[in-house]
Amino acid sequence: MAASDPRRALVAGICMSEQDVTDPREEARRIAGAFAAHLRHLQEFRGVRYVSAAPMPPGSPSAAAAEYEPLDQSGAPLDEPSVQREQTASSPLEASSPAPAPDVRSQAKSWSAAQKLEYLRAKNLGDCQRCPLAATRTKIVFGVGDADAPLMFVGEAPGHDEDLRGEPFVGRAGQRLNQWIEALGLTRSAVYIANVVKCRPPLNRDPEPLEVERCSPFLRAQIRAIRPQVLVALGRHAGMLLIGAERRSMGSMRQQVWTYEEPQAGLRVPVVVTYHPSYVLRQERDEAEGEGTTNATVLADLRRALALVTR
Ligand code: SF4
Repeated sequence: MAASDPRRALVAGICMSEQDVTDPREEARRIAGAFAAHLRHLQEFRGVRYVSAAPMPPGSPSAAAAEYEPLDQSGAPLDEPSVQREQTASSPLEASSPAPAPDVRSQAKSWSAAQKLEYLRAKNLGDCQRCPLAATRTKIVFGVGDADAPLMFVGEAPGHDEDLRGEPFVGRAGQRLNQWIEALGLTRSAVYIANVVKCRPPLNRDPEPLEVERCSPFLRAQIRAIRPQVLVALGRHAGMLLIGAERRSMGSMRQQVWTYEEPQAGLRVPVVVTYHPSYVLRQERDEAEGEGTTNATVLADLRRALALVTR
């Protein structure tokens, strides 16, 4: 058999170089595979987007969730026949929710922001396994605070203490954030705090692009539910995600007020980017005692953010 014949080579399982793959059917398979993967992604996150636009049903989201929308293993809601998946006995939610799901969308019109968040956490995030961080986390760190908060803080990812407690910003960095919030004349319970990535990256490394891609739809859904007046990005990764930039220095992001936009949800929220409290704590080790330059810089940024709040 001639190894230069791509079709035969494929049948024989011979690994071909990219140059050899010229068979149009092979190309069609490749495109179909990419399309299928994209479709799976859309279906998986369809529920998240749906919560977004959501309009929610009256009553407790938990009760409605149990009644209306069982999850399959991937966390995808089964409210539409087009994405109904094979039921297995291994899914407790499915076992306890045998009734077919009615159109939740139409019932979803009167849910509060808190109910949307509860639904998002329970039904869409669930015991999320969408990225490799699921294997090493202790607890998912969803978010905390007032669902109707005008000011929303967005960090990068949970650290050690957050991973154990399941709450964002509870370690030393959290204490510093609390001090900042108090310096603004607010309390932690009056703002909302979340991270771009909901599970701790091992050894507190930066989140990988895949992890951000898989997890950030949940942050976006949180923002759509809360509809804050102002977003504060803590750190470079949170800043880049919220302003939609691929590569930007903290210096350039700090210098102006950006806009977080989701046209489909009618959302345009000002974004102020500032340093992550962990960075400030590290910097302070190098700053002369009492100098507090970075801390003062952050406080100035936060006051700029607060000045944008109008209610
Ligand atoms: S980081 Fe996000 S996407 Fe990854 S497993 Fe945790 S919740 Fe799921």
